[in-house]
Amino acid sequence: MTRLVTFADGTTVPALGQGTWEMGDDPAWRDEEQQALARGIDLGLTLIDTAELYGDGRSERLVGEVIAGRRDEVFLVSKVRPDNASEMKMMLACEKSLERLGTDRLDLYLLHWEGHVPLEETVEAFRELVDEGMIARWGVSNLDLRAMERLMEIEGGEDCAVNQLLYNLGSRGVEFDLLPWMQARDMPMMAYSPLGRGELLEQPLIRDIANRHSADPAQVALAAVLRHDGVIAIPKAGSVEHVEANADALEIQFDLEDIERLDAAFPPPTRETPLDII
Ligand code: NDP
Repeated sequence: MTRLVTFADGTTVPALGQGTWEMGDDPAWRDEEQQALARGIDLGLTLIDTAELYGDGRSERLVGEVIAGRRDEVFLVSKVRPDNASEMKMMLACEKSLERLGTDRLDLYLLHWEGHVPLEETVEAFRELVDEGMIARWGVSNLDLRAMERLMEIEGGEDCAVNQLLYNLGSRGVEFDLLPWMQARDMPMMAYSPLGRGELLEQPLIRDIANRHSADPAQVALAAVLRHDGVIAIPKAGSVEHVEANADALEIQFDLEDIERLDAAFPPPTRETPLDII
């Protein structure tokens, strides 16, 4: 089953994509990682998330090899490091990312987190890259509600397409205020570490609900974040077996009992909490 999420500009992407942090680091896993990413694209997980930071460019290189000859099939997302997010440095950083990825454009370019460069300057640098045709749109990552409100005050800040945030069953703070705020603006949220870096999959309740649905624990963890409107999940899978399991996450239909048990074990927030980040 494919579900689409729509950006404010009308562009649609699959709700389930692929993360790539820590991919491309070990030559012994390279073939398997390439096969996993390629299989994911075949299965419709065509949004691929990477960053210049990951393995100091090794993740982008691996992605570049996988998408060679099939660039148009994917929605390519990369991220600029905060220290490169200035008008002086961003264009070069983006050019290097494009080179490693073997492409001439990104579909989405994100500020990885807010550093010392003022957001005003970062927005201006993003606008220049859009004007140059190097990126189709831009967004942010790891910005809390107050930072998003500041961003909206900046000229051009409302063009921010997404906020990529830590979001999984064990980390639901964004459901209290940030997610509804984004939903009200048709700004999708990209949920990073949606499997809790794999740790959630050992939780007895998640395993129990998976058994009840003859499903995989990863599918339960992904379905739990994807049941919210405007959420895109980007699990990282290093094997074909794992990506195939993840691709079926949308087949699970939770009933009321599942939701109640999940909420009891992983309570939704009842008050504002500081943003969780990795
Ligand atoms: P995830 O929550 O996606 O978990 C990845 C772990 O889960 C890996 O150990 C993987 O193992 C395992 N896994 C994946 N699928 C399955 C499966 N079906 N069954 C069992 N285990 C499975 O963690 P990430 O932190 O990697 O988050 C996802 C992506 O989000 C990153 O790769 C990155 O692109 C992005 N991200 C962004 C951040 C930001 O600051 N903006 C911060 C962190 C992540 P295996 O590799 O063996 O398949």
